[in-house]
Amino acid sequence: MQYQNTEAFAKEMDEKDPLRSFRDKFLFPEVNGQQAIYFCGNSLGLQPKSAISYIQEEMDRWARMAVDGHFHGESPWYSIRKKSKPMLANILGAREHEVVAMNNLSSNLHFLMVSFYQPTHKKFKVLTEAGSFPSDIYMLETQVKFHGYKPEEAIIEISPREGEHTLRTEDILSAIEENKNELALVMMAGLQYYTGQVFDMRKITEAGHAAGAQVGFDLAHAAGNIPLKLHDWDVDFATWCSYKYMNSGPGNISGIFVNERHANNPDLPRFAGWWGHDEEERFKMEKGFKPMYGADGWQLSNTNVLALAAHQASLDIFEEAGMVRLRQKSELLTGYLEFLIESISGDSGILEIITPKSPKERGCQLSLLVHKGGKAVFDELYAHGIVGDWRHPNVIRVAPAPLYNSFEDVYKFAQRLELALKKFA
Ligand SMILES: *Cc1c(COP(=O)(O)O)cnc(C)c1O
Repeated sequence: MQYQNTEAFAKEMDEKDPLRSFRDKFLFPEVNGQQAIYFCGNSLGLQPKSAISYIQEEMDRWARMAVDGHFHGESPWYSIRKKSKPMLANILGAREHEVVAMNNLSSNLHFLMVSFYQPTHKKFKVLTEAGSFPSDIYMLETQVKFHGYKPEEAIIEISPREGEHTLRTEDILSAIEENKNELALVMMAGLQYYTGQVFDMRKITEAGHAAGAQVGFDLAHAAGNIPLKLHDWDVDFATWCSYKYMNSGPGNISGIFVNERHANNPDLPRFAGWWGHDEEERFKMEKGFKPMYGADGWQLSNTNVLALAAHQASLDIFEEAGMVRLRQKSELLTGYLEFLIESISGDSGILEIITPKSPKERGCQLSLLVHKGGKAVFDELYAHGIVGDWRHPNVIRVAPAPLYNSFEDVYKFAQRLELALKKFA
């Protein structure tokens, strides 16, 4: 693609974009009295206009039917989760019985580690990327402590090489190989939240299995952003949130993937709840937990119907757009953002994109290390209605989301960035 730094080019790209009408399905916030140019879907995706009617429908059902809504009417709450499974399976690259929407991300990851982190005297270590998201750090620290180990002994963190910002796959693989005698679990991000780097989940899973470890991924920044093939990559387990690229509302319902290899494995310990119990027998209310087949067997509580309604509104939009078309647009859009940033900052050394260059190793987010001007540059952008996010100590994350961002958005961002750099850098 031959990109150009002109408004006409950006508008032409928008006209040619087969997904251009999807922008109208979302509500944009206002910042300083103008409609925001929103690049923060990596943190909280925009609200689909349809979400409110999906929620309203369940509110009405609750009003009209109350407890009867569990078993009667068009999509009874008892099995309402099933509607989301085909869409989630498409987004995650999974079989339908390998996924289910439930709980929140951090709680899911803990529950999954109850099953998949089974340290023994000899094999007790967990391998992860250095500088991971704080919740993930706390989860690993407290999981290893729960089993009686010290975090500094049990957690192996892999860091980029001196002078580099992102991890080399070969370094991840060799760390797994070097620690194979003691390694119980590989648990990493699929897409690193700070740098925007996508890890080679297929190779990491293969290496983890060769080392006799279980392999799981936190897909908070990957789900709905990059193509995933969890089943084919043979990943053991994964979880994600629905409120970032999946536009389902603040703190909304998460989901889990459990490889079908584990679907019926009675040796895996788990913390159970009634909603994971065989649904034919659930209301017999008897002793003796009998897990449902697949990911459903990890459910604990009855479905959060209002949360799932907002999630479903978004999943229906994803289904209509299709992950293949979304990814095609995403690569073009982020490629355009990269081109514009490079053409305005040149070799001035003011800005450095730390996200990998190869589209295979990134999603829609670019992380810009701001060497001069720092937070003032970010604040200037915000003052002009551009919403990205600032990450300590000096990174601006910008994430054009293919569902609702346009090439013109990207162009306008670059124009503002150029002015802000002139003013502050
Ligand atoms: C956003 C995010 C979380 C958030 O966890 P919640 O349980 O949804 O609050 C956790 N881990 C990563 C990597 C994230 O990006």
